[in-house]
Amino acid sequence: MRTILLNPGPVNVSERVRAALMRGDLCHREPEFSQLLAGVRAKLLEAFAPRGFAAVLLTGSGTAAVEAMVASAVEPGRALAVVVNGIYGERIARMGRAHGIRVVEVAGAWTARPDLGAVEAALREEPAIQAVALVHHETTTGLLNPVAAVGALARRYDRLFLLDSVSGLGGEPLDLDAAGVDAVAGTANKCLEGLPGISFVLLRQEALARLQGFPGRSVYLDLAANWAAQEKGEPLFTPSIPILYALDEALAELGEETVAGRIARYREAAAMLRAGFQRLGLAFLLPPELRSNTLTALRLPPGLGYTELHDRLKAHGFVIYAGQGPLAPQIFRVATMGQVTREEYAAFLDALGSVLAGR
Ligand SMILES: *Cc1c(COP(=O)(O)O)cnc(C)c1O
Repeated sequence: MRTILLNPGPVNVSERVRAALMRGDLCHREPEFSQLLAGVRAKLLEAFAPRGFAAVLLTGSGTAAVEAMVASAVEPGRALAVVVNGIYGERIARMGRAHGIRVVEVAGAWTARPDLGAVEAALREEPAIQAVALVHHETTTGLLNPVAAVGALARRYDRLFLLDSVSGLGGEPLDLDAAGVDAVAGTANKCLEGLPGISFVLLRQEALARLQGFPGRSVYLDLAANWAAQEKGEPLFTPSIPILYALDEALAELGEETVAGRIARYREAAAMLRAGFQRLGLAFLLPPELRSNTLTALRLPPGLGYTELHDRLKAHGFVIYAGQGPLAPQIFRVATMGQVTREEYAAFLDALGSVLAGR
């Protein structure tokens, strides 16, 4: 029996993606690598930003892509506004401070959409703010943030708009151009169904042109420098080649399924699980209108701690995910990402039912 990963990445992948790891040894300064690099960058743009964007790949987990965006998009003396309603928003603020950037946090409740009036006030009152950062899908709670509304504010006040869509791209509808996104960070091993180790940033061409004039705050995570090298067909540094093979195959699969098909599959999986959770009498952290397709946060049932619930489900072959921060003692999370069948989701509901009944 295989282990079913119901954590929000890394996800279960297809045999085809796993087999791509074995394509063979390759030097990253050879034309075969340039071809692979160009193919992956083109497939990413084709899937998520067919016009007016550029792709930069990074070796590192999703956090590397988010940090590259933060470190590359704010000039010395300027500030970064961060909309915070969960752990990942907090992390962006932490990254800004780590790079010596003044951070203006617009913080709100973790179980509610952000206060757009407060975002607008920050932009109006602080001309030093050069960029606004938002998390598309706050994986902390499973909440979908209002990307287009924040993008419209960034546009109106002429600031760069940075989006962490590490757990959103491929799982939630997102029109980068229409939403006014200037840079979006994503990763190989969540809704793209590749393996962990490669992440990426998609940049609007005009934003890229601006970033090219900024002094770099990082050597490894400099987006403009990585982009320039990748345009010439060579990465700046040694990439994780097997993981790139796997991403290439995962993007081919995504092309066959289509992004809309992938989103629909995840949405159906979430609907099926949520109907089951309701039948089992579990309580949801968020109201339906705030929930994503890819993660459901549930309150721990009375008398059952996370560790016991986790361990008993794992004995059945299912890995669930704990809450983070102040939510850790209150909730557990179930992701609907990756190569998991309807039958496997049904078996999970059965296992959950038997664990709850035997409590
Ligand atoms: C998973 C995730 C990340 C990055 O996580 P890594 O462990 O570095 O891959 C960043 N932001 C969000 C919203 C995420 O869900």
